Amino acid sequence: MHTAYITHPECLKHDMGSGHPESPLRLRAIDDRLHAAHLFDYLIHREAPLVHRSQLLRVHDAAYIDSIEAASPYQGFHALDPDTGMNPHSLDAAYHAAGGAVMAVDLVMRGEVASAFVACRPPGHHATRSQAMGFCIFNNVAVAAAHALEAHGLERVAIVDFDVHHGNGTEDIFRNDPRAMLCSTFQHPFYPHCGADTASGHIVNVPLPAGTAGAAYRAAFSAQIMPRLEAFRPQMLFFSAGFDAHREDDMAQFGLVEADYVWITEQTMGVAARHAKGRIVSVLEGGYDLSALGRSAAVHIKTLADL
Ligand SMILES: [Zn+2]
Repeated sequence: MHTAYITHPECLKHDMGSGHPESPLRLRAIDDRLHAAHLFDYLIHREAPLVHRSQLLRVHDAAYIDSIEAASPYQGFHALDPDTGMNPHSLDAAYHAAGGAVMAVDLVMRGEVASAFVACRPPGHHATRSQAMGFCIFNNVAVAAAHALEAHGLERVAIVDFDVHHGNGTEDIFRNDPRAMLCSTFQHPFYPHCGADTASGHIVNVPLPAGTAGAAYRAAFSAQIMPRLEAFRPQMLFFSAGFDAHREDDMAQFGLVEADYVWITEQTMGVAARHAKGRIVSVLEGGYDLSALGRSAAVHIKTLADL
């Protein structure tokens, strides 16, 4: 069984301006590192399709989708919030990013691959039901999780969000849906300034202080996330795979390294093996130091693919 690598050329054309950390170079860095590490040829490559509006409507308000479509500029740039904007390619990139996450679920559920990594952008985990923010337009991992529930009839799915920022959009979308567990580790206090006091039965928030490195991170993950995941018995696992908690990433102040990403991946794959027939889909979120992002994503994918 193999691992799918899903991307689309349009995701390289979404550009929020020179100097913006969420740049097309991020996908190039992952691609380059997969080649350099001789992993690229072992993956099953698929082009991300456009998402269907009905798939977006499971997690976003119709009026919000309409507003994003209306905001898409024919030329120039349209700012959605101080950090997030659209060029003429952004809408298509966002459709492909969400569509790629849906495709990942379909490939894994049909047994065509054991796992999948969605290397698309814009990222998604800050996008709420009705608001773009934090570089995110549509919440790709939420679209994927909802697709697993609604189109494939699963009863329980779990999202492990190891991005350094809280997955506030994913929490917003699934707050009242106990079929979807969110486990989010994040630097606190820090952007987006929420999540520390909103945990519930299926929202497992693990705020950690600036300076948290591998040993403390693993201890928190083992104590606060693993027992909850095991008890929940998810039928499919998702990663919100942000690599901005890396020691070399200036976006935040965590100290994770590649070995920590391997460990997180292995722990979660263990849950998938025990409860979910190994089904696991990983969706790219943050990660802004290009070298650290490329290396971290490569070891994450290598581990997913058991290479
Ligand atoms: Zn982040």
